[in-house]
Formats: sequence, C-alpha cells, structure tokens
Amino acid sequence: MSHPLMDKMRLQMQGLEQQGLLRKRRLANSNHAIDFSHNDYLGLASSEAQANALYEGALHYGVGSKASPLVSGYSKAHVELEQSLCQYTGHEAAMLFCSGFSANSALMSALFNQDDVVIADKYVHASIITGIQSSNAKLARFIHNDLASAAAQIARYPRSTIVTESIFSMDGDIAPIDALSTLAKAQGSLLIVDDAHGFGVLPQGVISAEKVDIQIVTFGKALGCQGAAILASQTVIDFLVANSRHYIYSTALSPACAHLALNAVNLCQKPAARAKLMANISLFRAQAKAQGINLSEMADSETADSGMNSLELVSSLEPAEMNSHERVINSPIQPIITGSNERTMAIASTLADKGFIVGAIRSPTVPFGQARLRITLSALHSSEQIISLVNALKCALEDTP
Ligand SMILES: *Cc1c(COP(=O)(O)O)cnc(C)c1O
Repeated sequence: MSHPLMDKMRLQMQGLEQQGLLRKRRLANSNHAIDFSHNDYLGLASSEAQANALYEGALHYGVGSKASPLVSGYSKAHVELEQSLCQYTGHEAAMLFCSGFSANSALMSALFNQDDVVIADKYVHASIITGIQSSNAKLARFIHNDLASAAAQIARYPRSTIVTESIFSMDGDIAPIDALSTLAKAQGSLLIVDDAHGFGVLPQGVISAEKVDIQIVTFGKALGCQGAAILASQTVIDFLVANSRHYIYSTALSPACAHLALNAVNLCQKPAARAKLMANISLFRAQAKAQGINLSEMADSETADSGMNSLELVSSLEPAEMNSHERVINSPIQPIITGSNERTMAIASTLADKGFIVGAIRSPTVPFGQARLRITLSALHSSEQIISLVNALKCALEDTP
C-alpha cells in the first residue's frame, strides 16, 4: 500500500537500519543465559514471597482496579501503599501511576506551563523531557552532575525548578543531592528527584522530603514489580490529582499490584537484601580492577565492604570538594565505556554467545562515541557468575578492536 505515512515509515526505518540504530525486541533469557542487564537489583521480581503477595493481593482486592482513581478505582490497597511510601520518605502525600514514564510525564506536564523555567541535568530520563516538552516550559540544562554548571543555571533562573535523578540509569553515578538541595533552598527554587534507580538501593533518608520537594519512585527497578508514585506535599498532590490528565483519564494501578509493591517496600527495608547486592557490586569491581578493566570514569572509593561507607563518604564531602569522579557510590549499574556503537554490539554479542546477557547502550541514548556495556548487578548473582562474567568480559574487550 502506498500512503504518505507508510512511505515515511519505510524511509525512516531504512535510515535507522543503515546507521545500525534500528531498535528491535528480542525474547528475554530464552537460552538460560546469565542476565546482567535487568534492573531487579534485589531479586524480588522472581521471589516466592512476592508471588504469594500478588496472589494475596489479587484474592483480597481483585486483579483490576476497574476505573480511574477519580471514579471508583482508588482502593484501600492504594491508600496503604501511599502511606507506606510517605512514612519511608517523609513526604506528606502520594499518588500512584501504572509506570514511571507515566508518572514523570504526568508531573511535568501538569505542573509547568510556558511561564515556567525547568533546570534539568543533561542526562535526565526521556519521560521527564517528554513531560517538560508537552508543558511548553522553558528547559535549561546543566552539565551532568556538575555543581558549578547547575549553580550557574540556578542563579540565572531563581525561584524556578530543578530536576535530576538519584542514581543515573546509564552512568550509575549519584547526583549531588545535598548540595543541589542547599542551592535550591538558597534561591527559593524547588527540587524534583527521579529516584527510579535509587529507591530500595540507597539507604533510607538519602533521598527524602527533607531535601527534595517532589520525589518520583518507580516499582519496576529494585522493587521488582510494576508502577510508580509521585511523593510530595499535600498541596502538590491535591493539585496533581485535580489536574493531571494522565491520572484522571487512566485506569488506576491494579490493586493487586499496589499490594505487591507494598510488600516489596517492606522487603527492601530488610538489611540482608541490600547487603548481598553491595557485596556483589564490590566483588564485580574488585575482579574487574584485578583484570585491568577500565570501570568507566567511576572512582573506586575503596570502602566497598559494608555498602554504607561510600555513601557516608559522599555526604561527608563538602560540595566544593566533590567532582564527578568522586561523587560515585557503589552502584548496581556499572557501565564499561566501549566507544563505537559497532564495537559495543560486537562485544555484547560475544558475551551472549558465552551465555552472558549485558546491556548494550548506543548513541543517541548516550553521547556519540561513548557507547557502553551496561552491566547491572543483583543480589541473586552468585560469586561464580560474577567472576566468570568478568573473565569473559576481559577476553571480549581484548579481542574486539
Ligand atoms: C525506568 C525509569 C523510568 C520509567 O519507569 P517505568 O516504571 O519503567 O516506566 C523513569 N525514570 C528513570 C530514571 C528510569 O530509569
């Protein structure tokens, strides 16, 4: 069929294919490969406790919410999850969404209009940018995790809004939240933090109402299930409930999923889950270092054994002392910069042949020439799996020019 739209699609797809940028789906883990590419940091996605929680939630509240939260879709399961998240983070109020993408887009597009300025880290998630663009607000960027660059924008646009993440999804580094919070307060600005990769991984209190005005948490990463929440003051949440089109005109999160996420919030507070994750991150970094693998630009704090120390290190540094190399935690996201898109794909494919799935992140998702393997660690990986991954990685890096 010839139709202008069909012709446009064919042309665009050909262009992407020729540049090696055509995105395609592939069946997950069909060959029992060891997966170092997912975000299930605590191993909750496949836990029996969580399967039981979902069943319990389904029996108790039903599998579907049946309506928008503003009609009859808002149930006790949702209220209990919201209260638990507020208790954990110190925020006054919360509202739930079916995904983090939806929560971010909803927040930005309802909160801002053409009269507002939003100051965002250069690397914030696509869902934030999508939301800001649809709000018509003015978007000012600062250099990724660069305090001086952020301070300049904050001083230029006082009483505006700053948006950043906690742990960044592609670089695994953490934003200087304490310093940004101080800067924001000094200039009468608001601070929004997308805590998608931090929630459940960072210790309680690192991102909280004390430091950030609005916090987005997602349930699809460390909580291992699905959905998201916006946490803020009662005023902000009341406004969003009344004005967010994403919230008003969409079926509420399944109450069984809300109950499941509540159980995950309880589970992620058990120290053992995080301790195993932190031990695995330390093992990976130590092995990689011993093999001479360049761990991106991430400084090794040398304090990796307890999992708490590196964060204490981060918060004890004065803002002026912190540069992007030091301001790094022992993150479950460990990028290995490999350079070109082609080399990155070749290495990922070699690793897949050896039974290891790792993320291959290409431009334009990351800057050109900084394509990378995105290796994520989970509490469920065994020491043997991590050691054999690093060995395979060393060979693949050496053998691929
Ligand atoms: C994954 C992610 C989202 C989107 O969350 P979903 O629940 O997967 O839609 C938003 N922000 C960041 C930083 C993310 O990594």
